[in-house]
Amino acid sequence: MNAMNMPSVPFYRPAGDECTVFEMAQANGLPLLLKGPTGCGKTRFVEHMAARLGLPLHTVACHDDLSAADLIGRYLLKGGETVWVDGPLTRAVREGGICYLDEVVEARKDVAVVLHPLTDDRRRLVIDRTGEELAAPKPFMLVASYNPGYQNILKKLKPSTRQRFLSIGFDFPEASAETAVVAAESGLDEDRSAALVRLAGHIRKLSGMDLEEGVSTRLLIYAATLIAKGMGVERAVEAAIIEPLSDESDVQQALRDLAASVY
Ligand code: ADP
Repeated sequence: MNAMNMPSVPFYRPAGDECTVFEMAQANGLPLLLKGPTGCGKTRFVEHMAARLGLPLHTVACHDDLSAADLIGRYLLKGGETVWVDGPLTRAVREGGICYLDEVVEARKDVAVVLHPLTDDRRRLVIDRTGEELAAPKPFMLVASYNPGYQNILKKLKPSTRQRFLSIGFDFPEASAETAVVAAESGLDEDRSAALVRLAGHIRKLSGMDLEEGVSTRLLIYAATLIAKGMGVERAVEAAIIEPLSDESDVQQALRDLAASVY
C-alpha cells in the first residue's frame, strides 16, 4: 500500500527509524512498547502506522479500573437474552488488526495474565467465559504505551511484562521538528511556533525539579491554535501552558518569568 496515495493517513513526523521498527514488528508478529512522556506523539504514531498499513486500530485508554473483561468482552443482557459482546482486544484479534493499550501500567493486574499468552510465540487469546481460544492471525499486533516519567513506584511495568515487548523510547522532538509539528497542527506561522518551542525548551529544563513533567507538544499545539485564532500570546500561554502545568503560584510565576524572557 502506498502511503502517498492515502489522504486519510494522519500526519506524523518521524524522529528516527521508528516507522521501520513498527513495520518490522508488525510483519513478524512482535508486540511493541512505546515509552515516553505524555503528549509527545505516541498515539499519533500508532494512528499513522495503522492507517499506513491499512489495519483497523482499536485504542484503549487504560485506567486503574480497567480489567481483563473490559478488554476481552462480557455477556450482556439484550432484549431478555444474554449475548456475548467482544471487547476491543478480542475484536482486534478476530479482525487481525492493531490493539493499542495506552498507558498500560494503569490497568488492573489481571490484564497482564491476558497479555502474556498473546505476547509470546503462542499468540493466543484465551476467553475463559466462552471457552474459546483464539489464535491471533498474522496481521494482529499488540502495541502498548507507558510513561516511565511518572514517579509512582507502584505503577512500574513489571519485568515479566516489559520483556515481552520490543520497545521504542519517545521524547519531545528536537526544536526544528517540533516547530514543524506545531505549525502544521495549529496553522500558526513558523516564527511564532518556534518561539513556543523555545519556551518549551526552557520549561523542560525545569521538569523534575519544580515540575513533575515538562510541557507536552500537545499543549504547545493548543497554545499555537489559540494564538493563530487571534488570542494574545500572554493569555494563550497562560491558558494552554502555565495553568495546565502547575497549581502552585510560585511555580506559575517562574513560568511566567520564563515566558517573558522568550517574548
Ligand atoms: P501521546 O500519545 O504521546 O500522549 P499524542 O500522540 O496524543 O501524544 O500527541 C499529542 C499531539 O501532538 C498529537 O495530537 C499531534 O497533534 C502532536 N504530535 C506530537 N508529535 C507529533 C509528530 N511527531 N508528528 C505529528 N504530530 C505530532
